Amino acid sequence: MNDNDRWARERARECASGNEETSELETTDGRGRATRERERERHSSEDVVRQPMAHARKSSQKTSKATFEGRDDLGRALGSHDVFWARVARGGTTSEGKPLWYARGIEYWDAVDANVEGVLGGFGRVSDVDARDNGALLRATYGETLRARAASGERATALDCGAGVGRVTSSFLIKYFDEVDLVEPVGHFLQAARADENVTGAKRSDGHRAVGFFKVPLEEFVPERARYDAIWIQWCVGHLTDDDLVAFLKRCGEGLKPGGIIVLKENNAKEGFILDLEDSSITRSHEYFLYIINKAGMKVVEHRYQTGFPVELYPVSMYVFQPRL
Ligand code: SAH
Repeated sequence: MNDNDRWARERARECASGNEETSELETTDGRGRATRERERERHSSEDVVRQPMAHARKSSQKTSKATFEGRDDLGRALGSHDVFWARVARGGTTSEGKPLWYARGIEYWDAVDANVEGVLGGFGRVSDVDARDNGALLRATYGETLRARAASGERATALDCGAGVGRVTSSFLIKYFDEVDLVEPVGHFLQAARADENVTGAKRSDGHRAVGFFKVPLEEFVPERARYDAIWIQWCVGHLTDDDLVAFLKRCGEGLKPGGIIVLKENNAKEGFILDLEDSSITRSHEYFLYIINKAGMKVVEHRYQTGFPVELYPVSMYVFQPRL
């Protein structure tokens, strides 16, 4: 076991402590994508220069001028994030003018089955425990506002970003919000979401409904102004460049009702970032996400790690943030 493995296992153990469901979910088979398996990293990182553990750095460390070193999933060094994104920007476009970086990401997902197993890269079994922690986080950070909305008869509204087949909506968001909009660029995923009554809420007795289905990538999406209580962004921003992600988060800020929240839930690399050569995405470290969130003019009001996931998966962070006043 190398350093990276040990770190992931320690983190997973920390996350799982006090969680009785962990052992049921621990498994060593299967390969993941959205949940991102660590296997390739395990084989490829032996020669990576050891650096102080990112997560052990002081939280007071200034994140505004940070440098994040990348490598690909074969362990090859990519240089700093600035160097990497400059190279991506020079990487050319399709005949329709779409940057190849984004075209490759969509091409990858176009070939994936439109079901939960597909969007979770064979780790569909983590969906329940994922939804459980999502619910706990939402109740802790926004439960009071949701109760106030219900009491005053004001509709609570959420946006599911990079929604895939609507898994986050059906397993969690639709239970808490009167209205949910979904934004997803891959056509057959969005179609599957539209056709699923658990996503649309068609048969729900509480009247909660999915109302908007937007077939747009996040780098182009503009949320309606002041429409949303919560904007949920899970397992998709690895596809966005830093500049596009920062700009998108700023637009999300405009899309929030006063006091609304943005929740970003993503895998964490141990340090810097790791490029997935297969699907044209990166996995950012915790520090890298804090840097992005800060750059978007947001302040983090809560950070938690997902509990109870299989140990071979990356640690998964949940960031709750709001525009800085
Ligand atoms: N959030 C969902 C889906 C995760 S799979 C869930 O947790 O179940 C990753 C999703 O990101 C896929 O649906 C994929 O189509 C989407 N995606 C890829 N590139 C994207 C982009 N540029 N903008 C928005 N979503 C993107």
